[in-house]
Amino acid sequence: VRNYTSEGEVVSLACFTGKAYFIVKHEWKGYVMKINEIGEFGLIDRLKKDVLIRKYEGLIGIGDDCAVIKTTFGRYTLLTTDMLIEGVHFNREYMKPDEIGYKAMAVNLSDIAACGGIPKDALISLGVAEDVTVEYLEEIYRGIKESAEEFLVNIIGGDTTRSSSELIINVVIIGEVEDKPILRSGAKENDLICVTGYLGDSAAGMHLLTNNVLDPDDFSAIINKHLRPYPYVTVGRKIARLGTAHAMIDISDGLIADLKHVCKASRVGADIYTEKLPFSDSFEIYCEKYELDLLQMSLSGGEDYCLLLTLAESDYQLLKAELEAEHSKLFEIGRIVNGDEIRLLDGDGKEIDVDVRGWDHFGEIPQC
Ligand SMILES: [Mg+2]
Repeated sequence: VRNYTSEGEVVSLACFTGKAYFIVKHEWKGYVMKINEIGEFGLIDRLKKDVLIRKYEGLIGIGDDCAVIKTTFGRYTLLTTDMLIEGVHFNREYMKPDEIGYKAMAVNLSDIAACGGIPKDALISLGVAEDVTVEYLEEIYRGIKESAEEFLVNIIGGDTTRSSSELIINVVIIGEVEDKPILRSGAKENDLICVTGYLGDSAAGMHLLTNNVLDPDDFSAIINKHLRPYPYVTVGRKIARLGTAHAMIDISDGLIADLKHVCKASRVGADIYTEKLPFSDSFEIYCEKYELDLLQMSLSGGEDYCLLLTLAESDYQLLKAELEAEHSKLFEIGRIVNGDEIRLLDGDGKEIDVDVRGWDHFGEIPQC
């Protein structure tokens, strides 16, 4: 599926249609430095290199009791945090450490994007399991820094501590919004419901990584959507600048679960037109191949990290054109209605029943 040639132990080698695939259990055998050899502060010294992308006067990053930043006069500050725990949100066996780091940043950046904000600074805290080496953490940081560089985020602090068995990464992102943040609570009756990207790719990618890793077809697109989700920061800012979105949220828990948050906060209901849900080719091919329910995967899969927004019908074409001019997408998928229910409607407007379960952290035990 992917070429893991220089890392870990190759546990099997598969050849399909002339291509060779190395399937590797990531064990980082060549990397040996234990954290107690250099201590917490030695580790921090290694990790804190090149973490300030935007240097300016007065900025204090890692190394004092508090980080010091300048906020922009007249703007709102956004604060968000998300914790990723091994076995719940990621799995070291099928994710490379830089992918874990990149994803930890991306899920937080996505929350800033959902408010139409600009990410500025990050605090990174690590709970380090006994078997994690210094080099492994440096690789996690490589992914973190890659994302930070992409979105001009300074890493200004955090914490490192010992964890009894799992690896834990907690990220705080501080951002700001030029005008007013777009909240979940602004949806109005008759608004169109739109999303900025395809649905279900990440769920299908995870399904492949956990069930069908030896599949010979090229499903790298959906695998990448799961391993390296791309936060819609630029799109979120553009939407905020145009000022037409009434409510916005990022799709982290699944379309229905996240739409529920919007409906609840806005005290409205919603109709989703299932025929209009946008699917990528890879997603459709994968679901067909493994007889997976497209609707169930796309509605409850989660981790797509595209944005869901509502806006007046009269503003839809303009926003769509503005986003498409910058090679972004906007898909209309439903309408906000009176009431407090979410209905799924087929092409004939008939209500359909799908077993939809969004990501509930305190519900059934998730599988990674
Ligand atoms: Mg969110």
